[in-house]
This record gives sequence, C-alpha cells and structure tokens, in this order.
Amino acid sequence: MEDRHARPITYLRLSVTDLCSLRCRYCMPAGGVPKRDRRDLCSVEELVETARAAADCGIRKVRLTGGEPLVRRGILDICRGVAAISGVEELCLTTNGLALSQLAGPLREAGVDRLNVSLDTLRPERYAYMTRGGRLEDVFRGLEAAAEAGFSGTKLNVVLMKGFNEDEIPGFVDLARRYPLEIRFIELMPIGQGEAAEFLPAEAVLEACPDLLPAGDSGVARRYRSPGGLGTVGLIAPMSHCFCQSCDRIRVTADGKLKPCLHSDQEIPLRGLRGEALRRVIRDGIAAKPRRHHMNETGHSGAGRNMHQIGG
Ligand code: SAM
Ligand code: SF4
Repeated sequence: MEDRHARPITYLRLSVTDLCSLRCRYCMPAGGVPKRDRRDLCSVEELVETARAAADCGIRKVRLTGGEPLVRRGILDICRGVAAISGVEELCLTTNGLALSQLAGPLREAGVDRLNVSLDTLRPERYAYMTRGGRLEDVFRGLEAAAEAGFSGTKLNVVLMKGFNEDEIPGFVDLARRYPLEIRFIELMPIGQGEAAEFLPAEAVLEACPDLLPAGDSGVARRYRSPGGLGTVGLIAPMSHCFCQSCDRIRVTADGKLKPCLHSDQEIPLRGLRGEALRRVIRDGIAAKPRRHHMNETGHSGAGRNMHQIGG
C-alpha cells in the first residue's frame, strides 16, 4: 500500500534480537546491553505472524536484522516461517558474518535469498578495534561459506568513517571489480553511539575512485561500476543526499514496536494483536510515515534508540 505521501511501502526490516556477538563502537555501548527477559521480545511465532500481516498489507521484501540475527535462538525457524509466507517475494538477512561459517548452508535451506554482511575494514587489527574484539578471519570464512552454500548477490556494508577506513576505499572498490559483490558504502548516522566515530560523506568514494561509472540506482543506493568490474559499488547517503522521497520501508523492533521511520521516536506497539487488528495497526503505521527525517537540520537522529535496538 502507499503511505500518505504516495510512496509505495513494500519492504519490512524485522529485528529478531537486540543482542549481538560484537560491540561496534558506533552502534553498541562498550558494556553491551543487559540481556532482557525472553518474554520482553517477540517469540518466533509473533515475528512470523507480524511478517504475514505485513505481507497482507503489501510488504513484498523482508529483511531480518538485529542486533545480530544469527545469535537469535530459533533463527532458522523464523527464516522458514517468513520464507513460506505467500506474498513475501524476497527474504534477506543482514549479519556481521561471524556465524556464517556454520549457518550459511542452513540459512539457504531455510529460504533466505540474499545476505548483507557488515565489514568496515579489511585490516584485522582495525576490525578488532572497531568491533571491540572481533576476528576478521571469521568474517572471511563466513563469506566463503556463503558462496559455497549458493548465495549470490551478497552485499558488503561498509560504514564510512573519517580517520578510520577512508584509506581503504580503493581496496574495497577493487574487491567489487574482482568479485561479483556489491560494496555498499554507508554514511555514518548520528544515532545512539554514532557520534563515537567521525562522519565521512559518500562523495569521498567518488573522489578516491574517479574511474567509477554510474550504474543506475537500486532502492536507496546510487550504484557505480569500475570499467570491466564484476561487481558494483553502492553509495547510501542518508546525510548528504536525503533519499526519503523514495523510502519504501517500515521497521519492527525485536520487542514488537512498529517504527514508521528510522529517525522518528514514533513507535506503535504490535504485541498482543492478531489477524485483522494487527493488519489495521500496520496499515495505520504505514500511512503515518513522516515525509522525511531532520538529521541534517538537528545534527542528530530522533530515533530514540541505539541502532542495535532497531536494526539499521
Ligand atoms: N549485526 C548486523 C550487522 O552488523 O550487519 C545487523 C544489525 S546492524 C545494526 C545493521 C547495519 O547498521 C550494519 O551494517 C551496521 O554497520 C549499520 N550501522 C550501525 N550503526 C550505524 C550508524 N550509526 N550509522 C550507519 N550505519 C550504522
Ligand atoms: Fe552488532 Fe551489527 Fe551493531 Fe556491530 S553493527 S554491534 S555487529 S548490531
């Protein structure tokens, strides 16, 4: 269905946990987050029911996210349940990749179509620093396992950070030249811990790699390709190029709150609702999407939560 600004809303980002196996400095507090009572989070059945009701309201693509979705107990049941919903044409999952070496095959069998793997640096010591202890080789092993399991069109999410990874832009672009991957450079957003790192505009990619050629837009990404490259480079620039006019998504948090906009603190409780009552509240939430965010004017997001509590 369309929201009241005539945008077709077809994409649900469904968070399955706010816990994570890493502590990325721009996303999580250093001490992590207290483990919540399981009853505070949606059950597997509630998550699948939410996705089903959203599909009845016109959602065609679902992305499972977190926190880290692969630490969620029952993640394969969630995938199987969502993949089986008629109306859901594409099931994607965003992960830090650490557990993919064990789970890539089972995820594929459970019906996941595509993966986004977050990887902000190709240097082991930098990775350990930014994630507060992660091992880069585990992500590489996960990426290999994903390819072996038959995943194609995998995207690497790279958050641009001045003074941290700007010197690695050519290396990432070279990966997209040599492999059929999409490298997605994402501007750091001032959400929660986002101020722990320094903003770098997406234009820095085009300045560092002037041979990139436009390759059309895909959703919120402007895409480019190196001459003769096998993969593509995507620029996601919520700060420097507001793309709200083409926003097609809603979000549901792991504790069952519908967020019509990532950058608004408006949250609509869904837990306890079923059937037509659930569909009605989702339709109202879609209609209530604000026209745009105001991060550029205010300098901060109005999200009211850290990123790991929303899912990106
Ligand atoms: N744990 C998974 C992962 O890291 O891919 C999924 C959840 S994570 C919150 C989803 C995406 O949000 C990641 O690509 C992460 O880099 C990105 N992210 C987190 N905080 C951000 C921020 N302040 N600005 C921009 N992107 C951010
Ligand atoms: Fe965890 Fe993802 Fe946040 Fe990193 S970005 S702390 S992997 S939720």
